[in-house]
Amino acid sequence: MRILLTLIVALTVLAPDARAQTYPDYSEIYVNDFADLLTDEEEDDIRSDLKRLRSEEGVEFTVVTINTMQDFGHTGAIEPFATGLFNHWGVGDATRNDGVMMLIARFDRKMRIEVGSGYGRSKDAPMKAIIDRVIVPQFRNDNYAAGIALGVDAVISDLTDGKSAAPADPLHVKIWNGIKRMFLAVGNWIYLLAAPLLLLPVQAYRRWKRDRARICPNDQCPMIRLDDHSEDAHLEEGQIVEEHLKSVDYDVWECPLCEHITIEAYKAWFSSYGACRSCSFRTLEAETTTVKVATTTTTGKQRIDYQCHNCHDTYTGWRTTPKKSKSSSSSSSFGGGSSSGGGASGSW
Ligand SMILES: [Zn+2]
Ligand SMILES: [Zn+2]
Repeated sequence: MRILLTLIVALTVLAPDARAQTYPDYSEIYVNDFADLLTDEEEDDIRSDLKRLRSEEGVEFTVVTINTMQDFGHTGAIEPFATGLFNHWGVGDATRNDGVMMLIARFDRKMRIEVGSGYGRSKDAPMKAIIDRVIVPQFRNDNYAAGIALGVDAVISDLTDGKSAAPADPLHVKIWNGIKRMFLAVGNWIYLLAAPLLLLPVQAYRRWKRDRARICPNDQCPMIRLDDHSEDAHLEEGQIVEEHLKSVDYDVWECPLCEHITIEAYKAWFSSYGACRSCSFRTLEAETTTVKVATTTTTGKQRIDYQCHNCHDTYTGWRTTPKKSKSSSSSSSFGGGSSSGGGASGSW
């Protein structure tokens, strides 16, 4: 009994010190500003630089700020904590091990730029220079945001200069990379602008095909296209409703000699009306109501109320919406790289 009591007392006393070392979870792979040293705008600037580095050079460089390592059960030097966090997150490509992590522990007044094992010790000196000459002078004046931003710029230019010192790419690779960079820089909106221009010749061809003269199969007499008013006499009720809803446009051609009639249907490219299950005309309106919103853990549910403007049939359908993904999979997690302790540290 006494032994048990002693054990309990010992455990209780030792518990705070014996607390296991943990690491923060990342919410994204570019900037995790746990100590809130950066404004949203400053974060955005840094994030866009880090994104570009990742898309152009394939290098994962992440910035982490914490208040103190003690929050994660760690006391003492920053080096083992930085290496542990780097490997816990798996920063960088798993085969190249070329990740970079800038870690700032504000109240410990310590920082480290940890690099993946692929760099060996080659980055220790340049990172030390960046910390001592670019970052720490800013931190000493409490300019954390400036120190981080200037430091990120300096690290990126060191990493990319190192690449251009390597054997130069052949010309066609350079040109191709230039084109890729241009497309990445302008963004996807360019396709939205270009699409209507690409469709112009298609539309012109369709217009010509639709307007060209029709010849009567019975007597080879040129046919006449009826105007909207007189064509209705030859259309079914459902077709007139379709024209009214603009889901389908009809041309009615009539031979002036033998009164032969040809009806041609032109479906609208963009119409909110679907085909009715009862009368088959494109006169079906669908109204979607979200009954249950999808979350990251559960699927959602939508009710679709259909109503036909021609035969007035009504019916209801259900749709399950997929779970929300936390973010796009390609940029939501690190590549699984590791560090063997390369890099440099500083304090202020
Ligand atoms: Zn005819
Ligand atoms: Zn119908």
